[in-house]
Amino acid sequence: MCAKDLNVNESKDRERFYSDLVLHHSSDAVVICDPDGLAVWINPAFTVQTGYGAGEVLGADPLALLRGQETDRDAVEQIMLGFQQRRETRLDILNYSRSGASFWADLKLSPVYDSTGKHTHFIATMRDITERKLLEDQNEEMRHSEALRQAERHLLALTSEWLYSAKSFDELLMVIKRAMHTLIPEADGALYVYDASRTMLELAASWGTMPEFETQILPDDCWALRRGRAYAFGQKPIQFACDHVHKPGTPYFCLPIIAHGETIGLMHIVFEGYEETGLMRHMRDDVFRNRWDVSLICAEQISLAVANVRLRQELQEKSWRDPLTGLWNRRWFMEKAQREVSQATRNQRELALISVDVDHFKQFNDRFGHDAGDEVLMEVGRIMLRVSGPNIHPCRIGGEEFVFLCIDCDEATALAQAEALRTEISQAQLHVRGQSLPSITISAGLGLLQRDGPGLQDIMHAADRALYHAKASGRDRVVVHAP
Ligand code: GH3
Ligand code: MG
Ligand code: MG
Repeated sequence: MCAKDLNVNESKDRERFYSDLVLHHSSDAVVICDPDGLAVWINPAFTVQTGYGAGEVLGADPLALLRGQETDRDAVEQIMLGFQQRRETRLDILNYSRSGASFWADLKLSPVYDSTGKHTHFIATMRDITERKLLEDQNEEMRHSEALRQAERHLLALTSEWLYSAKSFDELLMVIKRAMHTLIPEADGALYVYDASRTMLELAASWGTMPEFETQILPDDCWALRRGRAYAFGQKPIQFACDHVHKPGTPYFCLPIIAHGETIGLMHIVFEGYEETGLMRHMRDDVFRNRWDVSLICAEQISLAVANVRLRQELQEKSWRDPLTGLWNRRWFMEKAQREVSQATRNQRELALISVDVDHFKQFNDRFGHDAGDEVLMEVGRIMLRVSGPNIHPCRIGGEEFVFLCIDCDEATALAQAEALRTEISQAQLHVRGQSLPSITISAGLGLLQRDGPGLQDIMHAADRALYHAKASGRDRVVVHAP
């Protein structure tokens, strides 16, 4: 319709002309239906929006044309009710165009009446709101993932608190297992720690539903360890699986655990069931990336926690060790012996104490100097460590006073232990600053829980009395306490 068709003198005609103009140029689709709901007129936007021309629509039920597989049944029901009850109805509905493409429409259905009040038509307008819906969906998704992130931050904070509360390595492993399984529930995981020789990594802990991990791996078998940084397998166009993984193709992370600048282990996180080809289908990119971020944070926190536990243990160890000989000190001995005596009493097990004292040590000091005396004490310490059998703990509890705490040990075994020490020491060649020193001897006294107990003090007292007898009867000997 163009301006030269204009033939409007009367305002009524003018109004009709404007209405026509609006209907023709509106970007909203408009369909006019008869009282039975069959289309009698459509505007051009209807064809643009739906792909259906007048030939296909007129005389047909437009709703039947537009609804498709994912169109909400309730929405269709409501529109049908709108037709039946001649009720104005407005809702969002997923429609399908002629080509099968879906689009969201804000649909409004209104009954039309003539001047006498007779129902003559329905008019339905449809505005394409696909983009708005998309944005709404994205917003919803963002809100959802933000809620997830927040829950994750909360879990991470909790985890870090527990990691820092761990006093021992075993406690730390317990926290790591629980925390990792909670933080990344869809993954199985394992923590490996270097062995003492640093040639192997040993499985220290694993978690998940069906963990199946190597119990030992070589550092060279892992790309993360070889390259010195965390490695993600499962997303890159060029990638190679580590030799220690069981199923090549399953996405996984390898994250070195580094304490005080030294790599001490490896955290391995496997997304079992998310095999490489199916990865994109099962697990979207951003999920994978997000798990990567969480894993990196965890690896860092675990690294710090391990360093923390090690430091704690070193300090603890220091407070229990005698600095000169490296043997357990008096503090350790008193705590450990007290505990062991109670346990042995409860379980009716044997326990023995051997008190050891260097003979004529004052003289030795006076003759050869304090340094030489210290050398003797160190040598006694070394020999005590060397001859200690299983369950026998050598301690230095005073200046030149030593003790063997013998757990689960009968009189004969304890005696043999004391004799072995006495013999070894009497045969030791001592040197200080290149100068050889005369050999030394020790005396030892033996106390037994069964005979001299029940308390630790009783056994110590008995061992000391036996030691006194050893000294009195000529030294360089072992004496058993005779009540
Ligand atoms: P006995 O055979 O009766 O045991 O005679 P002794 O001379 O060994 O007498 P006692 O056990 O009382 O001697 C303890 C001496 O040990 C006193 C002290 O000079 C020396 N001593 C204690 N602690 C140390 C130490 O850390 N280093 C050195 N060099 N000497 C120490
Ligand atoms: Mg002494
Ligand atoms: Mg002495």
